[in-house]
Amino acid sequence: MQIVNDKRCSWINDLDPRSNIKVLEKKKESEWLIVGAGFTGLSAARKLAQLHPNQKIILVDAQLAGEGASSRNSGYLVDTTLNDGFTSSKELDNYKKKADIYKLGIEVVKRFIKEYQVDCDWNECGKYFASSKEEDKKILENFTDTLSKLGFEHNLLSNKDLKKRLGTNFYNIALHTKGGILLHPGKLVRAMVDTLPENVSLYENSSLLNWKKLDDYVICNFKNGSIKTKKIIFATNGFLKSLGIKSNYNFPITLTASMTRSLTNEEFESIGQPKEWGVLSVRPMGATIRMTKDRRILIRNTAEVYNPYLMSQSELDKRSLKQRIGIKKRFPQLPDDIIQSTWSGIVSRTRNSSQIFEKIDDNIFVAGCYNGSGIGVGTLFGEQIAIKASNENTKEIETIEARNKPTWLPPEPFLSFGVKTRLIYERIRARSEI
Ligand SMILES: Cc1cc2nc3c(=O)[nH]c(=O)nc-3n(C[C@H](O)[C@H](O)[C@H](O)COP(=O)(O)OP(=O)(O)OC[C@H]3O[C@@H](n4cnc5c(N)ncnc54)[C@H](O)[C@@H]3O)c2cc1C
Repeated sequence: MQIVNDKRCSWINDLDPRSNIKVLEKKKESEWLIVGAGFTGLSAARKLAQLHPNQKIILVDAQLAGEGASSRNSGYLVDTTLNDGFTSSKELDNYKKKADIYKLGIEVVKRFIKEYQVDCDWNECGKYFASSKEEDKKILENFTDTLSKLGFEHNLLSNKDLKKRLGTNFYNIALHTKGGILLHPGKLVRAMVDTLPENVSLYENSSLLNWKKLDDYVICNFKNGSIKTKKIIFATNGFLKSLGIKSNYNFPITLTASMTRSLTNEEFESIGQPKEWGVLSVRPMGATIRMTKDRRILIRNTAEVYNPYLMSQSELDKRSLKQRIGIKKRFPQLPDDIIQSTWSGIVSRTRNSSQIFEKIDDNIFVAGCYNGSGIGVGTLFGEQIAIKASNENTKEIETIEARNKPTWLPPEPFLSFGVKTRLIYERIRARSEI
């Protein structure tokens, strides 16, 4: 497995390049090792540093910190979801457990940006669950029921309202929920890297090749060095399976997204100068599409089983074409060639869309698998797995542990066959919404 940095993602390209990169080159020993420096690993490192100011904490990443999925996502910090992976369970008790976790996720990110005065284009504008199909009104009405029972503010909207708010005639029905936040994921995760406490040593471009438990330690081998650690936290999300972690409970999925350049004044006027907005599709494989604060359009309309991890430029070009069509369907008046970048990112899924948060051995811990809610839930789970690994308990841990646990997955080749078949089925069901 090889994970490399690339320059394809607009969110990352918006940031100043970093210069303080250290690569692991020697043998090291530490009290704590965290593998993976995305939202989960960075948050775990911050919390461990607070809890153990005099202990040595090492954080490693195979690429530049934060530049995996944590910078490559669509930037929705969610309070509610309609579709979660492939599942859309609206059973009230389970939905409440999920929403309780989302709420804690929003709180923890909010606390971070307040404490460090982070500018990440935070906008509490909520989000839309939308469809071009009138018949999807039924799905939204059922969802309305769940939201009302749980006290989430929401609003059903028709084509006329949507055209005004979104600048497109494409959607015929939508539910707006008030509580979600739109943000710039690259800026948020970069702030988490920049504010790592001093007792955290960060090594980047340092891929963990293999690991084993030896007596009370875990021995980890990298290309040019090794780390012998007392405790380890795996925070590699889409790469958990490739490291042999909870292999029968999670699998990686590759998503691709595209972002346009900023619309010109004329182009922006032609779509009615809408305020920033974010749409999630009512159908699981439909497009996520967003108008950013600086008038760029982001679209994500693919999810697939894809190996190896790095997608070649020609493969990305094929997805970019689909995304261009997706934008054109919604905004026929815009020029064809406004996509500025197309990138891929790896996420992790479980069968029942439940997250992993676990002690898997005396000194081995793991957190991951958040579907479309990793910004908040990853930050929360990172912090709380650090607390759990320090043998402490919190109300947050109780809330997390009250969720349904991930269910067992069949072995290969049945797993890939099952996932691919399901993805094809969902893609067909969502074809009008891509
Ligand atoms: C296109 C796209 C859109 C998305 N949209 C949203 C959204 O709108 N809202 C939302 O909340 N979530 C969204 N997500 C999901 C979200 O990005 C993830 O849930 C979140 O980034 C998970 O954070 P993490 O820290 O657990 O994992 P990651 O950010 O994936 O970090 C894991 C890190 O582990 C490192 N790693 C892996 N293997 C090794 C190894 N062997 N050695 C060392 N390091 C290793 C990787 O390099 C990576 O940096 C989206 C994801 C994608 C790809």
